[in-house]
Amino acid sequence: MEEPIAQYFDVHKSFGEVDVLKGINLSIQPGEKIALIGPSGSGKTTIIRLLMTLEQPTAGKMEVNGKNLWQMKKNDKLIPANDKHLREVRGDIGMVFQHFNLFPHMTVLENCMSAPISVKKESKESARKHSLEMLEKVGLSDKVDLFPDQLSGGQKQRVAMARALVMRPKIMLFDEVTSALDPELVGEVLEVIRDLADDGDMAMVLVTHEMDFAIDIADRVIFLNEGVIEADGTPAEIIENPESERLQDFLSRFR
Ligand code: ADP
Repeated sequence: MEEPIAQYFDVHKSFGEVDVLKGINLSIQPGEKIALIGPSGSGKTTIIRLLMTLEQPTAGKMEVNGKNLWQMKKNDKLIPANDKHLREVRGDIGMVFQHFNLFPHMTVLENCMSAPISVKKESKESARKHSLEMLEKVGLSDKVDLFPDQLSGGQKQRVAMARALVMRPKIMLFDEVTSALDPELVGEVLEVIRDLADDGDMAMVLVTHEMDFAIDIADRVIFLNEGVIEADGTPAEIIENPESERLQDFLSRFR
């Protein structure tokens, strides 16, 4: 097997008194497509926010590309292992959120160009070229000069994907990206994700309640329950032939 692109070693996360993640061990291979499923509040979003470095673990270790993200300080606090590493790691990871998080005062094109210029120090020209390529990929070449509030939810979500893709991440994280959309707009967003999955190179972690879609595109499905990984296997094993009663019970809500 190749070197994992990301690894969690006994990762815990608490918010105040609440233990949200209780010892997560997880390796993500380059190019792997993972669907993360589980009841609301089980910690799915927290798992991917940790990888995006939007949250710090309370205990444990995480690596991206073999680089340690955090280290233990004297008084048992975790701190960034190395600011330069952290910046590099952030460049390897892209995330798309449930509520788009576009910059409202920037056009579609400017939204995409912003990170390559400010984070990667790309020239404006090169950022424009890559942004236009990615906007074409998500089918929005004719919307580049519009502002987010002139777009439908599905279009906004596709801009958010183009914006993340411009950074050429090695891992893309999708946090329930269709759950804020009107039902008729879900398809166009899933279609783009499917295309990205077919491209192959990028690892993808999708928090999703779209079970049929997960069966379709995921290599691997992880069932999280109360902060613990309770099942981890192929879509056939986890979704189509679930073993545990708890998993069967969870899945029965989607039938
Ligand atoms: P899921 O994505 O599976 O619904 P989350 O990871 O969003 O679960 O949340 C897991 C638990 O952690 C929930 O009980 C939630 O209220 C809590 N939580 C998440 N983020 C915070 C935060 N910033 N502060 C306090 N509690 C939080």
